[in-house]
Amino acid sequence: MKERALVAILATGGTIAGASPSATGASYTSGSLSVDALLDAVPELGELAELSSEQIAAIGSQDITDAIWLALAARVTELTARDEVDGIVITSGTDTIEETAFFLNLVVRTPKPIVLTGAMRPASALSADGPLNLYNAVAVAADPKARGKGVLVVANDKIHGARSVVKANTTVVDTLQSPGRGLIGTVHFGEPRYFRGPVRPHAEATPFEVAAIEALPRVEVVYAHAGMDGKMIEAAVANGARGIVIAGVGSGNLSSPAMEALTAAAAAGVVCVRSTRLPTGFVARNVETDDDERGLIAACDLSPQKARVLLQLCLLGEHSLAELQELFLRY
Ligand code: GLU
Repeated sequence: MKERALVAILATGGTIAGASPSATGASYTSGSLSVDALLDAVPELGELAELSSEQIAAIGSQDITDAIWLALAARVTELTARDEVDGIVITSGTDTIEETAFFLNLVVRTPKPIVLTGAMRPASALSADGPLNLYNAVAVAADPKARGKGVLVVANDKIHGARSVVKANTTVVDTLQSPGRGLIGTVHFGEPRYFRGPVRPHAEATPFEVAAIEALPRVEVVYAHAGMDGKMIEAAVANGARGIVIAGVGSGNLSSPAMEALTAAAAAGVVCVRSTRLPTGFVARNVETDDDERGLIAACDLSPQKARVLLQLCLLGEHSLAELQELFLRY
């Protein structure tokens, strides 16, 4: 038995690696510090685990791409296949951390802990939150009790599941939340406590295979609003979308003209998924919309951005509409 766990740190940038000329100024540049600078700032990490480090990207997470997701998935797969690696920490901006976490949750097959973390305040700010978030993330990644819980997101003493976590506030350090779901656990100065595991299949129990994939299918999210017409949906189709996710009003509803455009898109072979722009709740089939007749999929409780990730993965295979609906109910 090893004395200390080995945790591999993969850095992608974000505010956790952000720097500003002022400790109190709001403006800063995401991703300007290297992974080694992040680790050097928290020498206490050595108490928790042995570390290896790599820079996968150096971006604000608003610039994350399918290519970076695929590179991350490939590298996490390689690293977790090594006996000596016990867990992975990925540093990320928080803007899209929920999508990156959900993507990896669906494609990386390992019971080893994969933990994403970030920060809301740049490393140079007063009361920067990155160092303790990183410390707690390494503690969770090094913890054998975190195995089998799918991809986790750790920030502000909380351990979130990849499927439930959302960014809920533009500035506060408690921005990451699991509304209506609850936490997987908490982690206080490096001591994790778990309340539950993820219920949905993840990691070793998913069918999505991206090892030989160079790009993910184009899926657009179209946001619904009062007075909506069908133009944005028609534009998505004209632009080559293979899938469209609607951030619908209420339980995934759309104005009549937008619904006609969506139905036409579905008839033309674009897979159309109804989600909601609301922060919580469930979009069920055939409530105010006849999904059967219109050939649409209900996103269940996935947010538009997570429904987009799942739809991109679903579109890598050949599925009937009924099978696609099953996949949305299952994952
Ligand atoms: N734009 C930043 C990013 O996602 C937001 C703050 C953060 O890093 O958490 O990279």
